[in-house]
Amino acid sequence: MVSAREKGPILPGATIGVLGSGQLGRMFAIAARRMGYRVHTLSPDADTPTGQVADHEVEASYDDLDAVREFARRVDVITFEFENVPAATVEAAAQIVPVRPSGDVLHTTQHRLREKCFLRAHGFPVTEFRHVRSRDELLSGLREVGLPAVLKTAGYGYDGKGQTKISSPADIDRAWRALGGQEAILEAFVDFEREVSVVAARGLDGSFAHYGAIENEHRHHILDLSIAPARIEAKVAREAVEISRAVLEELKVVGVMCVEFFLARDMRLLVNELAPRPHNSGHFTFDACLTSQFEQQLRAVCGLPLGSTEQLRPAAMANILGDLWENGEPLWAAACAFPNVKLHLYGKLEARRGRKMGHLTALAADVETARNDVLAARRCLCAQKT
Ligand code: AMP
Repeated sequence: MVSAREKGPILPGATIGVLGSGQLGRMFAIAARRMGYRVHTLSPDADTPTGQVADHEVEASYDDLDAVREFARRVDVITFEFENVPAATVEAAAQIVPVRPSGDVLHTTQHRLREKCFLRAHGFPVTEFRHVRSRDELLSGLREVGLPAVLKTAGYGYDGKGQTKISSPADIDRAWRALGGQEAILEAFVDFEREVSVVAARGLDGSFAHYGAIENEHRHHILDLSIAPARIEAKVAREAVEISRAVLEELKVVGVMCVEFFLARDMRLLVNELAPRPHNSGHFTFDACLTSQFEQQLRAVCGLPLGSTEQLRPAAMANILGDLWENGEPLWAAACAFPNVKLHLYGKLEARRGRKMGHLTALAADVETARNDVLAARRCLCAQKT
């Protein structure tokens, strides 16, 4: 099956295939090209954030297995920037080149219910949940997990897509209708103190590296702001890292994975979600760490030693969503007037509400200053034009 190519590290000059073509692939491609690799990307779209900086962009459906095989034949290893790639696509590619992380990791993490069952079965802390396939199961689930609860589609969800909060019995019908008959997971609502994540990497040799605990603030279920290091007790941060290490080890991940947690008011950590790729909460590493999460992904999938994750300065990252275009093009020069703030734009051709268009990262002597600066820079983007 997989040829001799699997032996030894994949070295600069080789070609990395990326399935998916969004901003994660773009930043991965920038890191890879900086180290002398070539990058090919495959997705159903053209002129994409990844394609704009890759050597070669293939526009094909993930279901077009002939195109996927042709793509695989022209690269040395395949990785993802988008985890909801069909299993058959991964299988077709894996018959030709190594795919990292493996299809098994994807299979577990692209389905919320499978992921939660995996976590619970291996003793990782998660909120109470139930499998829901019918209205009766929803009602019995609600009796067991209690109110408030969150109903989520079992498959293909991210950024709060496909989820509804049920606060009172009056919400049940609306939540059930919103599902449209899809298989779902019902979770007890966690009244959390904070949300934190750990972005970590596992190398081909089983080595482990992490960026510590990152603090995350969401708005309308979409990540809005990340602060690193998280403002939590050192003991809790260490525990988050240890849980993450065990998750990556259990899944035998090769690559970067983000473990998202709720920190409950009693200081218990509960795993909310796994992302088997670089993550939005790790974007600060691009500017603030010796090795970014994107270079780390590259190193891991190429079988190279992992790089140092040392953080050079406290950092805060704020997302730039399409909403900011409401009054016209944002005022980029105003944000650039903050000398400690870095602007990242993803080259997306159309700004839509809720669409991630870019981000800002501020570096400062402490996280409070970094947070204030990044928010001030973002506010300047949408100041009224005169
Ligand atoms: P998800 O797409 O599952 O990561 O959810 C996106 C966001 O919705 C999370 O980061 C939380 O802010 C919120 N959320 C999701 N599930 C729960 C839950 N069980 N309890 C409280 N908040 C939740």
